[in-house]
Amino acid sequence: MKLPKAFRKLIEAFDSLPEIGPLTAKRISERLLFDEEKRKNLKRALEALDEVKLCRRCRVISDEEICEICRDPTRERKLMVVLSPFDVFKIEESGRYKGKYFVLYNLVSITEGIMPQDLPIEEFKRLVEEEKVEEIIFALPNDVKAQVTARYMIEGISGPRVTKLPSGVPRGAEISSLDPYTLVEALEHRIPIDVD
Ligand SMILES: [Zn+2]
Repeated sequence: MKLPKAFRKLIEAFDSLPEIGPLTAKRISERLLFDEEKRKNLKRALEALDEVKLCRRCRVISDEEICEICRDPTRERKLMVVLSPFDVFKIEESGRYKGKYFVLYNLVSITEGIMPQDLPIEEFKRLVEEEKVEEIIFALPNDVKAQVTARYMIEGISGPRVTKLPSGVPRGAEISSLDPYTLVEALEHRIPIDVD
């Protein structure tokens, strides 16, 4: 005997998400099946996701077309490149950075078929020009994919200073998982990247 189709589909949907796994997918699905209130909440939350936008300038998730940070005229002419919007929220929490951001969501990885043209590199270069950026800061995971991506992003750019967070930041770590002390240390000890 098979599980009802709708229930099976729900388990599959949860199982397809990162870090859930089949056992947790079954538990969540069972919980939802017997809890109408939770089910309704989840449904509403999922539907509301359609309203979330990407800022047209920095690509952070936002309720608006142009986010609050990009609209702020007092921000410094710095552009910090991060992997995830959660990095932005984390750095904003620290209060130590007064520039703007650019969210990549992905890194170049030739082996995984993610090519430079799949990333918003042209958008980035346009923004650097339009915002008259004085410093580009790469706050990406400390790995080869990030290095390759940074190379493509600064290709042909001259003018702004280019820096990255120090290599003391754990390899592959996302900014949003750093403790506040390490984060502030990293932000204050940026190291230059040679532009050639
Ligand atoms: Zn923005």
